[in-house]
Amino acid sequence: MFKTDGSLTEGRDFKEISLWSNVSTEEWNDWHWQLRNRITDVEELSEVIDLTSEEEENISNSLNELRMAITPYFAALMDPSDRSCPIRRRAVPTGMELEKKPEDILDPLHEDEDSPVPGITHRYPDRILFLITDQCGMYCRHCTRRRQAGETDQPMPREIIDKGIEYVRKSPEVRDVLLSGGDPLTVSNDRLEYVLDKLYEIPHVEMLRIGSNVPVVLPQRITPELLDLLGRYQPLYINTHFNHPKEITEASKEACEKLADGGFVLGNQSVLLKGVNDSPIVMKKLVQDLLRMRVRPYYIYQCDLSKGLSHFRTSVGKGIEIMENLRGYTSGLAVPTYIVDTPGGGGKVPVTPNYVVSRSDRRVVLRNYEGVLISYTEPGDEEEGYEETPGEEELREQFPNLVNEEGPSPLLRGDRLVVEPEDLERHQREG
Ligand code: SF4
Repeated sequence: MFKTDGSLTEGRDFKEISLWSNVSTEEWNDWHWQLRNRITDVEELSEVIDLTSEEEENISNSLNELRMAITPYFAALMDPSDRSCPIRRRAVPTGMELEKKPEDILDPLHEDEDSPVPGITHRYPDRILFLITDQCGMYCRHCTRRRQAGETDQPMPREIIDKGIEYVRKSPEVRDVLLSGGDPLTVSNDRLEYVLDKLYEIPHVEMLRIGSNVPVVLPQRITPELLDLLGRYQPLYINTHFNHPKEITEASKEACEKLADGGFVLGNQSVLLKGVNDSPIVMKKLVQDLLRMRVRPYYIYQCDLSKGLSHFRTSVGKGIEIMENLRGYTSGLAVPTYIVDTPGGGGKVPVTPNYVVSRSDRRVVLRNYEGVLISYTEPGDEEEGYEETPGEEELREQFPNLVNEEGPSPLLRGDRLVVEPEDLERHQREG
């Protein structure tokens, strides 16, 4: 049973929003209705949230960069008057998207360069990315693939999909296929079944993955029919994309639970975004809430260098600070890997705080989350310990102050096992 701490977002009652006052609950809970009725223009948006005329103009101008399409469900979660609302920042374009920096790159991950056939990116040896649609339930303003997301707001044509499947069939080294987009779960069940069926019958494909934002922006999509369909293609892993604890609602929680009950292993990929989740406290709440609904935090991505995203980017130092505040302070299961997906097609590079403080011939000095320094002796013969240089012993006796007794030195020599801060909290706990 899902135990909440009472902090789930409720959103507004849609019937109290003029745009949807005549919509039935049945329609509201129908994913087709949600998709058909996404907010795509400023007039509709202004019926849901407060907009100044300047904001309206900026939104219209930004639509040339990336389409706007916000599901009514997600729009109803926005705070109508708070410009810093994380839901609003994810969904509503701003004039800042028009600002380009010299370091901005159209295709920062070089996905197009590593694309042997349209729709496929083959970068790593044993797995491929397969884009089966450019449609998303909602277009995230921080989208790294903004050069193509929403270009047609349609699934890829059948010929392109068939060419992608053919490529996988002819590539025996590919054992793992990640379907992404756009959002693969926005396509019809028939189309999804077609793709999954064809991939599943390829002998060397051992597993399938789906990257989908649907649990966040269109949880109504997780229907019994979809679960039945997906269940035929195990092992199937699903990664979703929650960025902020406010996105976790009763409906999104239910969607994730249904997927978990359906036997799918769920992970989450967040993007680190300035003014949204660039806080150790916000991130800690997010990862703990995700685990409570059986979604394992998988990655925190550094925001890519895509064009028009500089206002969302944080320093890498901020990501390290967040990781420093997760590791040790909460369950290891809640700690994702912080990733810089490097420009130029270099791929994903994990970045962590420094936990290896120093090393000698025989010992490694490690730092834990509390700042305790610990000596770890590596395997080897006992005599291979600290090897004295000829003449060292005499010098040590004659000038004892040459021997460092603080910091990592005694740990490297093996004279001490740990060095602890004086006020270590765990030693002050009473039984
Ligand atoms: S769901 Fe993914 S592909 Fe679609 S807009 Fe959001 S980040 Fe981009």
